[in-house]
Amino acid sequence: MSLPNGLTPDTARAQAARAYELDRKHVFHSWSAQAALKPMVISAAQGSYVWDGDGNRLLDFSSQMVNTNIGHQHPKVVAAIQEQAAKLCTIAPGYVNDARSEAARLIAEHTPGELNRIFFTNAGADAVEHAVRMARLHTGRPKVLARYRSYHGGTETAVNLTGDPRRWPNDHGNSGVVHFFGPFLYRSQFYAGTEAEESQRALEHLEQTIALEGPDTIAAIILESVPGTAGIMVPPPGYLAGVRELCDRHGIVFIADEVMAGFGRTGKWFAIDNFDVVPDLITFAKGVNSGYVPLGGVAIAPHIAATFDNRVYPGGLTYSGHPLATAAAVATVNAMREEGIVENAADIGARVIGPGLRELAERHPSIGEVRGLGVFWAVELVRDRETREPLAPYGGTSPAMTETVAAAKAAGLLLFVNFNRLHVVPPCTITEGETKEGLAILDQALTIADGYTT
Ligand code: PLP
Repeated sequence: MSLPNGLTPDTARAQAARAYELDRKHVFHSWSAQAALKPMVISAAQGSYVWDGDGNRLLDFSSQMVNTNIGHQHPKVVAAIQEQAAKLCTIAPGYVNDARSEAARLIAEHTPGELNRIFFTNAGADAVEHAVRMARLHTGRPKVLARYRSYHGGTETAVNLTGDPRRWPNDHGNSGVVHFFGPFLYRSQFYAGTEAEESQRALEHLEQTIALEGPDTIAAIILESVPGTAGIMVPPPGYLAGVRELCDRHGIVFIADEVMAGFGRTGKWFAIDNFDVVPDLITFAKGVNSGYVPLGGVAIAPHIAATFDNRVYPGGLTYSGHPLATAAAVATVNAMREEGIVENAADIGARVIGPGLRELAERHPSIGEVRGLGVFWAVELVRDRETREPLAPYGGTSPAMTETVAAAKAAGLLLFVNFNRLHVVPPCTITEGETKEGLAILDQALTIADGYTT
């Protein structure tokens, strides 16, 4: 049977072999020691599925890098890119282009509060760079506070904001970033026993950090509204409202990094909408057009935009508001509205993924905790439920994790993996049947993890 892009299995295999050979000869991969790599070839993708170089179909519970919120090859987005390519492929950012204008309008319609000025970037990391630059210029202050257990991107400031081991080799101690502990009840730094205690104590810790760092030196606090790669720790009630209050009290800019959590992932347009809090800046990328063409951006509140009414904003990009990328965003946002895709993410999370994972947790001793919302879930694997010893060390992997993930893959399921966690982060378009198919494969694979428990 042909692949969805029309390739026969034989042609797909031949193309895959050639692509693989060239990849290993010439391509330098992200975040990797190059010699040991054996990357998988993807020959085709459609909806919630991808096909590997041998023509095997796999259910994509990773949404790649948690970006294909609208699924693979959504026909309306593909058509919009094709139409825009025929009309106008590229134009310098100083000119008006209708795709960018309309994308900005649509995004502004969904941002909370009055964050209705949009600065477009090429991806998430540069959105974070620009948000921090805006905050520093707006306040005239140098420092930025970010949490441990976070990811904000691979560029210089963004990787220094990041609270995971990817920062370590890139941290020269002069970035102006100060890290603090955010709330994470399962591994509480605050000896908390309840969500309410965790929220209150994490806020007290942040308040102390601000006081001891000097409030007048702090330009911004940046937080993922729901931290993604670091573990999908949904903030407890009151936490983000408390951060908002601390920022207001001290004239600090509140940046919500929604690069992974935005555009439907949590079952709302923006994850911060789950908490009724309005930040000063929102960074976005990924889901804005599902990465069909690279795009990111910053949504800006009026008081920060006003800083640059009569003062030059010292930053820009050749491709800011690239027509192909913003046309894809227009089609994505419209399709998400027309097809109820954000509502589907909320429904699948509440009705299928959440209950399904909790049921797995009852039967698999390797599951320490499941947590999440929408189509944004983490399964925290442990050796021992009592001690909560992770199934792989922080920053590392283990045979238990590798074998569990490999078993899922062999059975046709792609997962997003970070240290001792499996993330269930399918497209927002996933159906109930597909979700159950994936959970059944996960159920089988977890028997391997169970074998490593003590
Ligand atoms: N911020 C968050 C929360 C992310 O998850 C990511 C990427 O995973 C980034 C920023 C960086 O985005 P990009 O890889 O598009 O530069």
